[in-house]
Amino acid sequence: WKHAPGDFRALLETSRLHGDKIFLSYEEEHLTYEEHFRRVATLARRLVEEYGIVKGDRVAVAMRNYPEWVIAFSATLAAGAIAVPLNAWWTTQELEYGLSDSGAKVLIADGERAAKLPGLTQSLIVTRGEVPEGARSFEDVLGAVEADVTLPAVELSPDDPATIFYTSGTTGRPKGALGSHRNLGQSPMTVAYSLMRAVLLAGRDPAETTGQRRVTLLTVPLFHVTGCFSVMTTTMFTGGTVVLMYKWDAGRALELIEREKITGMTGVPTNVWQLLSHPDLTKFDVSSLVGLGYGGAPAPPKLLERITTQLPNRAPSNGYGMTETTALAIGNSGADYLAKPDSIGLPVAVVEVKIADPTGDEVPVGEIGELCMRGPNVILGYWNRPDATAETFVNGWLHTGDLARVDDEGFVFIVDRAKDMVIRGGENVYCAEVEAALFEHPAVDDVAVIGIPHDELGEEVGAVVRLTSPVSPEELQAFLRERIAAFKIPVRFWVREGELPRNPGGKILKTLLRKEVLGS
Ligand code: ATP
Ligand code: MG
Repeated sequence: WKHAPGDFRALLETSRLHGDKIFLSYEEEHLTYEEHFRRVATLARRLVEEYGIVKGDRVAVAMRNYPEWVIAFSATLAAGAIAVPLNAWWTTQELEYGLSDSGAKVLIADGERAAKLPGLTQSLIVTRGEVPEGARSFEDVLGAVEADVTLPAVELSPDDPATIFYTSGTTGRPKGALGSHRNLGQSPMTVAYSLMRAVLLAGRDPAETTGQRRVTLLTVPLFHVTGCFSVMTTTMFTGGTVVLMYKWDAGRALELIEREKITGMTGVPTNVWQLLSHPDLTKFDVSSLVGLGYGGAPAPPKLLERITTQLPNRAPSNGYGMTETTALAIGNSGADYLAKPDSIGLPVAVVEVKIADPTGDEVPVGEIGELCMRGPNVILGYWNRPDATAETFVNGWLHTGDLARVDDEGFVFIVDRAKDMVIRGGENVYCAEVEAALFEHPAVDDVAVIGIPHDELGEEVGAVVRLTSPVSPEELQAFLRERIAAFKIPVRFWVREGELPRNPGGKILKTLLRKEVLGS
């Protein structure tokens, strides 16, 4: 290859060899690998020649999951610039924050996002919608796409920055995670390796979910690392097809699984949960579906059991990852997963794990500490945030902010997020543990445990639940008494009719929820 491995363009040029196989499928539109490459190379040249983009500049992308998202992302990297995927759910203010924080020179957006940004100072390229005055349409910028177009000449090395993904901001303001070409370059290999393991450990034929015939339903946004790396770049590498959805919808997903003969689905646990709960599940032919990958948020303990009964003989796998680890870092699948359903599994091939005490020293096996990781998937640091970078990346180790333990076989168990803990009279209550116990009750469909301010104890435990049939708080408390210690049992319950508020990554927005139920 003309480009060093670890430079995104090596992946891009390799992907071109998949030729006329379909890479991206969206509704009635299909884009082959060759067509994708030509558009990417053309747009990269336009960014350099017409927008003056040079190595290290930032180009922001703000769209729903359209094929143009992928083209814009790839073209930015091919031009040597840093891609800044912005959250399509963000408000005007949040989008403006992302643009100014990253210092993006150009924004490539869909019509809906462009309409939210009337006071834009960046150059604007718009697809799928109205093109405001002063902006240009995506098609116009692309112009004629030649068959012999080549990538612009830029010198890149594996440690050059490639992406700024904003963290979900579940624990504070989103931080720009600065990822390198090396981070990106290892991810398709790491994920493909883990997918292969999941299928083999489930006793299935790898050809069903890997290689040319792999068709993956993307159920999460491309602007989060799971969508971008665990699905998009990994597929680009293996030559499969990514089926895009404008937004997640379980009924639509079932239609697509049947129509597109989807072999694998990768997203957050809620996606699979909702698919299994859909009243029409048995009306569709979902026999093509083998791989069920999910992660990014704790999987309800009942999920694996539901999959094995409702969709037997599949290859489910739970992946743990962060924006800071370029998606997948630890995973559990197959017989391992059946034996230890509450574990997130073993570190992926490239990752080293350490469970540390507050000073950073490793704690003995079985003890709870902070999960720390090291490896070529760990990002360079936070964009423009030297303090946060120094706090999180210590002596080469990423401090995740998650509390965990490992067993004597090296399996990792997440106890809770360090910040998602209720401290009741000095006693730590891990919300995730109480949530897991509540999930075991047959009437509980969804749950979030929160801290309620209490004068004497500091905090008390409360729970917001969504029920499938009526059940009293007393019954729930009695149910919990057999499972967890008395001090962990919620003293107050709120029953919620609709969905619990979640971000696109599937995480419950507890700050918002607390505000809603407590008013503070
Ligand atoms: P911020 O850091 O901005 O507050 P965030 O941590 O929610 O946001 P992400 O990088 O999207 O942003 O999420 C990573 C976190 O998600 C992990 O630290 C962990 O708490 C949780 N997580 C990811 N995968 C799993 C999993 N399989 N099981 C349990 N928790 C998971
Ligand atoms: Mg985080």
